Amino acid sequence: MKSIMRSMTLFSLIFILLFSTACSGPTNDVATTPLRRTELLMGTSITLSLYDHQYPQILDLAFDTIKQLENELSLNKDDTLLLEVNEASGVSPIPVNEALFDIVQKGLSYSALTDGAFDMTIGPIVKLWNIGMPEARVPSQAEIDAALPKIDYTNVSLNETDSTIYLEEAGMALDLGAIAKGYTADVIADLLKAQGVEHALVDLGGNIYTVGTKLDGTPWKVGIQDPFNPRNNIIGHISVSEQSIVTSGIYERFLDTGDATYHHILNPETGYPFDNEIAGVTIISNYSIDGDALSTSVFALGLEEGIEFVTSLEGIDAIFITKDQEVYKTEGLKDNFVLTSDKFKLID
Ligand code: AMP
Ligand code: MG
Repeated sequence: MKSIMRSMTLFSLIFILLFSTACSGPTNDVATTPLRRTELLMGTSITLSLYDHQYPQILDLAFDTIKQLENELSLNKDDTLLLEVNEASGVSPIPVNEALFDIVQKGLSYSALTDGAFDMTIGPIVKLWNIGMPEARVPSQAEIDAALPKIDYTNVSLNETDSTIYLEEAGMALDLGAIAKGYTADVIADLLKAQGVEHALVDLGGNIYTVGTKLDGTPWKVGIQDPFNPRNNIIGHISVSEQSIVTSGIYERFLDTGDATYHHILNPETGYPFDNEIAGVTIISNYSIDGDALSTSVFALGLEEGIEFVTSLEGIDAIFITKDQEVYKTEGLKDNFVLTSDKFKLID
């Protein structure tokens, strides 16, 4: 089988349109050229840009924090806290730190809200497909059938008093790929603000948080990626400040076998990628952990149910792009989202 696999996670799927004018160079307090650093972490390209209060030590601190979180939350590194929890499945509860406890608690609330379409116990199925990794392949039906019974978020037991997580059945495995970057974006935005930064961009491979406004006090303009074209092709933009913008899409990570294309958001009931009208969905929220969990949840729910779900949530907005190149947006974006591509049709 000829297998072509591409991962676009090294690239930002949403990118920031900056209209600041060039200046003579950064100063410690006010500059229009950002102090910027990019590192490959959490399986993606992470860029932090500070537009004021530009001390490189702040970036050191921020990237150290991201590395520490990666060492706790990843499945692709050795000896992480998450692996410890997974390895103790069916055996015993494991004491965890605040980060892991909070993420799993929040994730479980989205599992309940989506009736299990969002399910962090998807680990055994993710591992069979390995979409986004060089070893990606289409698993056999027998393999999927053997893994499916292990997927059930109701078998995750949290004990708040002891701060433990217990996966009740042997072979269960949590995968935080749908939510960990959002959590991290919030932590880094808080860290920057605690260090006195008031104007900054946190970009975790397209999982964006905009700290404050641009230096001139106007909102940041964030481009919405065209899901059918290479990066930096956008369909339009929104104006935001102090908000999170997160996208889930069929183009992020996928496996192309030549006969079919399989993307990375998997149906906990079938073990196969969700197959619905959505090519990409972007969530705008105050917290990135909500945006990340919701982008995956809403993708899983599909267009109609997804719009209904987002509309029922306070303070959350969304832009949906369908495979038919139609664009839907929620009420809160009525006067905000600007469609700039004539290949797409905005449905009101
Ligand atoms: P995102 O790109 O934020 O939508 O997250 C997708 C990632 O979440 C995948 O690469 C998997 O690691 C994980 N995942 C896949 N399917 C699900 C699901 N149904 N519920 C929760 N996490 C999932
Ligand atoms: Mg997500």
